[in-house]
Amino acid sequence: MRRLVIAGNWKMYKNNKEAVETLTQLKDLTKEVKNVDIVIGAPFTCLSDAVKNVEGSNIKIAAENVYPKLEGAYTGEVSPKMLKDIRVTYVILGHSERREYFKESDEFINQKIKAVLEIGMKPILCIGEKLEEREGGKTLEVLTKQIKGGLVDLSKEEAEKVIVAYEPVWAIGTGKTATPEMAQETHREIRNVLAAMFGKDKADKMIIQYGGSMKPENAKDLLSQEDIDGGLVGGASLKADSFFEIIKTGN
Ligand code: 13P
Repeated sequence: MRRLVIAGNWKMYKNNKEAVETLTQLKDLTKEVKNVDIVIGAPFTCLSDAVKNVEGSNIKIAAENVYPKLEGAYTGEVSPKMLKDIRVTYVILGHSERREYFKESDEFINQKIKAVLEIGMKPILCIGEKLEEREGGKTLEVLTKQIKGGLVDLSKEEAEKVIVAYEPVWAIGTGKTATPEMAQETHREIRNVLAAMFGKDKADKMIIQYGGSMKPENAKDLLSQEDIDGGLVGGASLKADSFFEIIKTGN
């Protein structure tokens, strides 16, 4: 049985004080949650205080990006070693906003995934098709390329530690969600691609999250689908109470 992993992605929102306030509320609300792993992705400037704030609670902290070298002359970048040092647990990688605005390639994302795994943190690999790709019947082709490119050269044991977040780009921040049936069908296809790469045993253990306008009203229907193992939540994770409503539907 796969455990649900519900992650918030705060993107470039919240200063340090706001982050700590929201986490303090969320910690209190989620005290009794037993069946869901809870993760919050926060901006770099909040990570150190965020980790300290949630220590001993149900909540783990994710970074939203990393540079794939342990150290060096890379002005302005943050390394996996630095994140590990402040006890960050997860790193969100390959988000569609990074692919789009910062031109991140599958190859670069693959380097980041390997660097994060090597140091003992858990990557969340985001994949997703654009509207014109879905309408052109190219969804599976696009997702397969992103999965293969992102996870190339990983051992089966490494692959098992990766969370895949399926986020159709047309559903991010738009209020449009994939229907639960459409999302389930795509998640099944993603699991098939993972099975072809790493074997069915491993693929069956891997967490595949759905992301894109997930909110309290649609979370239950999405999370109850067989191959949907959690969520990556943007807007609705910014407030502790709405994020908790989503977590509750999975608990
Ligand atoms: P929204 O939930 O705001 O659509 O964002 C989804 C997302 O991009 C999470 O990574």
